[in-house]
Amino acid sequence: MSDTDTRDPTSLRTPIVAVLGHVDHGKTSLLDKIRGSAVIEGEAGAITQHIGATAVPLDIISTIAGDLVDPDDFDLPGLLFIDTPGHHSFTTLRSRGGALADIAILVVDVNDGFQPQTLEALDILKRSETPFIVAANKIDTVPGWTEHEDAPINDTYESQTDRVRERLDESLYEIIGNLSDEGFSADLYWRVQNFQRNVGVVPVSAMTGEGVPDLLTVMMGLSQRYMKEEMEIDVAGPGVGTVLEVKEEKGFGTTIDTVLYDGTIRADDTLVVGGQNEPIVTEVRALLQPRPLAEIRTESRFETVEEVSAASGIKVAAPDLADAMAGAPVRVVRDRDLDDVIAEVQAELADIAVDTAEEG
Ligand code: GDP
Repeated sequence: MSDTDTRDPTSLRTPIVAVLGHVDHGKTSLLDKIRGSAVIEGEAGAITQHIGATAVPLDIISTIAGDLVDPDDFDLPGLLFIDTPGHHSFTTLRSRGGALADIAILVVDVNDGFQPQTLEALDILKRSETPFIVAANKIDTVPGWTEHEDAPINDTYESQTDRVRERLDESLYEIIGNLSDEGFSADLYWRVQNFQRNVGVVPVSAMTGEGVPDLLTVMMGLSQRYMKEEMEIDVAGPGVGTVLEVKEEKGFGTTIDTVLYDGTIRADDTLVVGGQNEPIVTEVRALLQPRPLAEIRTESRFETVEEVSAASGIKVAAPDLADAMAGAPVRVVRDRDLDDVIAEVQAELADIAVDTAEEG
């Protein structure tokens, strides 16, 4: 951006979404379904595969959601789903002051109900004050269920028999009761007026896609209504992110898969990265994104880019990253004082150490 540019440098970033829940309740399937629907609905390249994350833009959400979403009601650009589900990744992924994810989906199997890891996930969401909705998954397994692929919940619900509807209602009310036992006032999402006070429960099937339009609509609405201010970032500012994973990559040495939640990273930036012993000061060698599927050849799965803006997932190749840690902060120095940035990273590392000790 040039000095004469008068555009407002602030812009709204994509909210970062994490998926939690008990093993086998359908976290991976739900992410796959969302990705799959987005690919089918979108023109080629409309959803972008990031490192460790998938960006689903507003226009695709609006196509999947049909009548449920009017894109004119939204100015957030879409949703960025972290690809690794589960609360282990959620707890290690922090941003300054809390969870890296801005919102979460807690997946609960309608037949299996609350299980130990459901409770653990709830506890984590409570402590990190992360807004969330509950996806009551596997509705297609209710005995007698008639599938309506990718249908909004109301359409498919209305066409079930009374007996099937009763069975589903029973399971849903049990989940609502369980949430209430844990101190969350919850209801079916269409009855919820204030998503800050009440947890919305969305019946879905990760298998048939039923209810997925509703799920995306509710996530989008919740973000737009309650998180817009937090999504305002200085797009051109120095990037701030969190390390997802430290990985050896052939031809690039040690790399850090990073979720950027503020500003930009450029291919010529100096970075400060949280290390096992002390902050690492290093220069970006390459910024890598997954190569679009159609273009994969033998030489590399990645393509280099010059710049990325939040929110996004990016692989950073740079020297001296061997001591970098998953969950550690990443900060771009650019025109700031190096010592100040090092001090910020040190402070964030100290916070992480305290949190980890508390989780014991
Ligand atoms: P995760 O451990 O939470 O990631 O669970 P997975 O996504 O791996 O799902 C566990 C199993 O449940 C797999 O066999 C899925 O095919 C199945 N599954 C997930 N969602 C649904 C659903 O909505 N309906 C049905 N019938 N099966 C599902």
